[in-house]
Amino acid sequence: MTPTGATRVCAVIGDPVRHSLSPLLHNEAFRVAGLDWVYVALPVASLDGHRAVDAMRTLGIDGLSVTMPHKTAVFESLEHVTDEARSLGSCNTVFRDGDRLVGDSTDGRGFVRALDEAQVDLAQKRCVVLGAGGAGRAVIAALVAAKVASITVVNRDAERAEQAVAMAGQIGAFARSTSDIEDAVKQATIIINATPLGMREDDPLPINPELLNEQHIVNDLIYSPLSTGLLEEATRRGAIALNGLGMLLHQATLQFERWTGAAAPVEAMRAVLRAELDRRSAGQPK
Ligand code: NAP
Repeated sequence: MTPTGATRVCAVIGDPVRHSLSPLLHNEAFRVAGLDWVYVALPVASLDGHRAVDAMRTLGIDGLSVTMPHKTAVFESLEHVTDEARSLGSCNTVFRDGDRLVGDSTDGRGFVRALDEAQVDLAQKRCVVLGAGGAGRAVIAALVAAKVASITVVNRDAERAEQAVAMAGQIGAFARSTSDIEDAVKQATIIINATPLGMREDDPLPINPELLNEQHIVNDLIYSPLSTGLLEEATRRGAIALNGLGMLLHQATLQFERWTGAAAPVEAMRAVLRAELDRRSAGQPK
């Protein structure tokens, strides 16, 4: 659809942002849903996140995706935020609710939707979360909401780990020593890698793979590459292995739904994402 004066506009802000998969994903969604909307990538310098929120208001932009390094600044600029955004102190999405701009965080619900789709029932499961950064904390908040039995956090930085554990309240624990980590993994059903370990070919594994077996469901949040050393070891040892594509897809389907009020064309979005990730992993030119 050629943009006209009536075309509605959404954007992703970040620095860097030109590599973002979001324009491809959302423009395909708008096209398949037959909506006269367009989605663009806007590079916004690191200290200008709050000004981008003002610009959204002034320019009548209908929806924003927010990526690094603006997630906290955008949260702090908004008067209205959802409970998910408040619990994380950050936003990856801004949507309009009448005259109000509202900040949201769709990563945690995207993670749960992806596991739901893979028919993983989280209720009363024991979970280990590797990493305590933005993704790790979003996952922890979502696991608490999904009423898991326990969440053990594994992280290098103890202070960040303790902050993440606090989000889990009584069901949270920090596995500090190697033997604590081993015990937690042995007792767990679900293991989530929320560290970047596995993005590079020569990365070490985030846990000892010998601890993995057919009782485990291993979800690596990494989506590029589509398979990591951890997922390969998990598969080899009989565990269920899931990559981060589902979470990436569904944090976007939730954004689409927030902005447009329409159901997201999930399969079309999955197909375009998968094709682009395959293309990038094969190193093909555009
Ligand atoms: P982040 O906020 O920078 O946090 C990174 C976390 O990984 C921190 O806990 C950090 O530990 C840990 N870490 C970093 N390098 C490490 C290393 N060499 N060894 C051990 N731990 C290390 O990043 P993020 O936004 O949470 O992203 C984490 C991962 O999730 C990335 O791979 C990202 O691609 C993926 N992700 C996927 C999706 C999706 O939709 N599938 C969404 C968001 C993120 P310290 O605290 O000790 O520094």
